[in-house]
Amino acid sequence: MPDTADRAPLFLFDNEYAQLPERFFARLPPTPVSEPRLIRLNEGLARDLGLDPQRLRMPEGVEVLAGNRVPEGAEPLAMAYAGYQFGNWVPQLGDGRAILLGEVVDGNGVRRDVQLKGSGPTPFSRSGDGRAALGPVLREYIISEAMWALGIPTTRSLAVVATGDEIRRETNLPGAVLTRIAQSHIRVGTFQFFAARRDEEALQLLANHVIARHYPEAAEAEHPILALLAGVMERQAELIARWQLVGFIHGVMNTDNMSVAGETIDYGPCAFMDNYHPETVYSSIDRWGRYAYGNQPAIAHWNLAGLANALLPLIATKPETAVAVAQELLGTFPQRFESFYRAGLERKLGLSERQEGDAALAEALLARMAENQADFTLTFRGLSEIVGPSAANDEIVRRLFEDPSAFDEWAVAWRNRLERGERSPAECRDDMRSLSPAFVPRNHRVEEAIDAAVARDDFEPFEQLLEVLASPFDDQPSQQRYAAPPRPEEVVRQTFCGT
Ligand code: AMP
Ligand code: MG
Repeated sequence: MPDTADRAPLFLFDNEYAQLPERFFARLPPTPVSEPRLIRLNEGLARDLGLDPQRLRMPEGVEVLAGNRVPEGAEPLAMAYAGYQFGNWVPQLGDGRAILLGEVVDGNGVRRDVQLKGSGPTPFSRSGDGRAALGPVLREYIISEAMWALGIPTTRSLAVVATGDEIRRETNLPGAVLTRIAQSHIRVGTFQFFAARRDEEALQLLANHVIARHYPEAAEAEHPILALLAGVMERQAELIARWQLVGFIHGVMNTDNMSVAGETIDYGPCAFMDNYHPETVYSSIDRWGRYAYGNQPAIAHWNLAGLANALLPLIATKPETAVAVAQELLGTFPQRFESFYRAGLERKLGLSERQEGDAALAEALLARMAENQADFTLTFRGLSEIVGPSAANDEIVRRLFEDPSAFDEWAVAWRNRLERGERSPAECRDDMRSLSPAFVPRNHRVEEAIDAAVARDDFEPFEQLLEVLASPFDDQPSQQRYAAPPRPEEVVRQTFCGT
């Protein structure tokens, strides 16, 4: 039912995706829920989007965020896409539990999708119920907003509404709807959907849409499609490097979970690593470690090859030519990733200008961390506290290593190298602190917040955690419990996608 309120619309929608041909989506409204209750509204984000937080908190606003009322100007739809899930081709996925309400242009002139997730069944639901449980919704809210505060491109969370309905999983769970904001929800799998159907017209329309929306500079290039591919590769190279540099593990890097806009998307069984080890996996469904921390760059490369493959018909009319050109471009990905990653890692060590041996120095630290169960976040943050010629405070870091002498040996080489640097310790320290947070959403704290909310309807731990994570680079001495790694009995070994 349209919003007939006698005043300005709640959202100033300006929808472009909904103008694409009908085979890009299924048009349908969200399915109403019994008893909407606003759990959380992201007021800062609301204002960035030109929305009035006061009105969103009123019954009319909450009904919209619950999917019970379609706001004026919305053109609700579920997007079609396909994807490779754990390497297996799935020709039709699509929004099985999400509805795109429409697009708004934010204060910076950037077009942003407003999507409800957990909003009821769609033609793409397959056997699913189209709903989301409160726990995973809170999880996405916490981690996506933490990523944003860390400066990492990501979809955002505008609101959480409890539905008042129970949903059936292994047990009955309270349901919720998340309002997700994204530069777009177009995925590598969206291109694959049309490529698999040999629908070149749709591929071209989708490419044009993505270029206009996310890569306008590609329109001016000699070969816009190659420029588009190069642009997506560049953003992914930087994004994955940023993940690696904070110890973030996405957990389900299927091609339908990779945004062509370069944002982190689809927070499921994701996690921040406690102890550093490249083989770390938390996701309960990733039994073979395909999406382990250390595999993320290679998986991104593989997904981008999937995008290139989907774009082949638009790259050149002769298939051999298209493949050759695409392969040459794709071959540059590892190099692009490495340059972002190396530069970031060296800065985390306090090294600015590159010198011979820096990469080996960084690798030596990581190897020692892995052997000694050193906490990723605390080790790097600790280095920023002890940077300089004196080893007097080294205990801050060395105690994080099972065998502290493993750190001491490395620290000698590190200090020798720092001495040959051009910056003062104070300058190094500021730069290091800006890249190595004190606070990340540690799994045990995330679980604690979710448990309190789901089991006891207590949202205080959730709110507190959000507040700490909003300033991850500040010391916040009164919040040490959120910086500390888990005690042995608190360690979370597995995370779940909860779909
Ligand atoms: P995900 O693992 O969340 O990326 O989802 C993979 C696919 O399954 C997407 O097409 C989702 O829309 C769909 N899906 C996930 N959970 C549900 C659900 N509860 N009901 C319907 N479809 C779902
Ligand atoms: Mg997904």
